Amino acid sequence: MRTTVGIIGAGPAGLLLARLLHNAGIDSVVLESRDRAYVERRQRAGILEQGTVDVLRAAGAGERMDREGLRHDGIELRFARRRHRVDFPALTGGRSVMVYAQTEVCKDLIALQLKSGGPLLFETEALAVEDAETDRPRIRFRHGGADGTEGAEGAGGAEDVLECDYVVGCDGFWGVARAAVPDGRTFERTYPFGWLGILADVAPSHDELVYARHDRGFALLSMRSPSVSRLYLQVPADTDADSWSDEQIWDELERRFETDDDWTLRRGPITQKSVTPMRSYVHEPMRHGRLFLAGDAAHIVPPTGAKGLNLAVGDVVTLAQALAHRTATGSDDLLDAYSETCLRRVWQAERFSYDMTTLLHGAPGATPFEDRLQLARLDRITSSRAAETDLAEAYTGFPIG
Ligand SMILES: Cc1cc2nc3c(=O)[nH]c(=O)nc-3n(C[C@H](O)[C@H](O)[C@H](O)COP(=O)(O)OP(=O)(O)OC[C@H]3O[C@@H](n4cnc5c(N)ncnc54)[C@H](O)[C@@H]3O)c2cc1C
Repeated sequence: MRTTVGIIGAGPAGLLLARLLHNAGIDSVVLESRDRAYVERRQRAGILEQGTVDVLRAAGAGERMDREGLRHDGIELRFARRRHRVDFPALTGGRSVMVYAQTEVCKDLIALQLKSGGPLLFETEALAVEDAETDRPRIRFRHGGADGTEGAEGAGGAEDVLECDYVVGCDGFWGVARAAVPDGRTFERTYPFGWLGILADVAPSHDELVYARHDRGFALLSMRSPSVSRLYLQVPADTDADSWSDEQIWDELERRFETDDDWTLRRGPITQKSVTPMRSYVHEPMRHGRLFLAGDAAHIVPPTGAKGLNLAVGDVVTLAQALAHRTATGSDDLLDAYSETCLRRVWQAERFSYDMTTLLHGAPGATPFEDRLQLARLDRITSSRAAETDLAEAYTGFPIG
């Protein structure tokens, strides 16, 4: 098998890259280790920055998002029983975000890829990237069925090789591509807490996201649709989700969202429960020879700033432009600049995600002095237009490229 761009991973990064390359007339093959149903059901991100929304529309993947997504013009910060709304358009010259689940973004991109006839091989696991420093890099892979086509059954496990001009590792944090970048440097921080997340069949109790700082820990009210709520509780990192009963979860959420007014939390059947660890991670550089890393394969942010999916989109837009430039002009300039261009934006997102995490979460062993500082930081954001603008600009997104 041979292609121009071999893409490992059909998460948002890999799928969008394939779409952008297709639109630029560059052929690619996407290899995905899991089956289609798994990729389309994996609950993860839900907030699309303005720039991500614009990119999906321009790529021809915005039709259902525009119909079913929920435009949000602000978020609420809640602390010391107080409520404060951050008004994005007023602070940023009209910017907003879109609530549209990652599952739906992936479904739309998969449908487009298959419709355009672009090869997207599910149940096909990349085993290694080889010869990345040459002009003929290869992906060694194993597919589940005889020909690796979608839905192919059986434990065929046949090994094969995809020869490429370029390889892009969009295979997430646990993928294989990053291992083929030698001499890289990593920067990492793990947090001693995680998020217990639930999906519930109940209309959201507020029409915008609510970020609550409470002495008992952080809580987030979010949503997936007008009838499905997504809520999170800060819990110790080693928490077993099943150790929390549904009633305990609702009781704890109610306490952490408490206010002085008559706001109430709607309860409903919990349909999913899981614990997400919190980690900050960056691998530099994001390139080795003709192998490029994009999305979670290169960097992770804690979900407090809602940046993970948006960073993945920024990476692949930058890379698609660089590959199109190479095709049109023969120049490697933009490919050479890829890692540095992306890392500038990545580190801004790391900073913002870290700021939001430390602003809102109770760190185990925090002193009363640190608690007071946290409240002072919140007070500053809610009383200074400059501080609030800084948050609004970062939340609605940093420029791509
Ligand atoms: C529980 C959870 C909640 C999150 N919440 C948010 C949020 O609210 N907001 C936000 O912005 N971000 C959030 N994120 C982060 C966001 O989901 C990720 O940043 C985003 O999925 C990154 O996309 P990606 O395509 O780079 O990687 P992924 O989505 O991880 O996709 C990688 C793909 O590669 C495949 N793969 C892996 N190894 C191989 C291999 N060897 N061969 C072939 N295929 C392979 C995987 O199966 C997967 O489909 C969350 C993440 C998690 C885990």
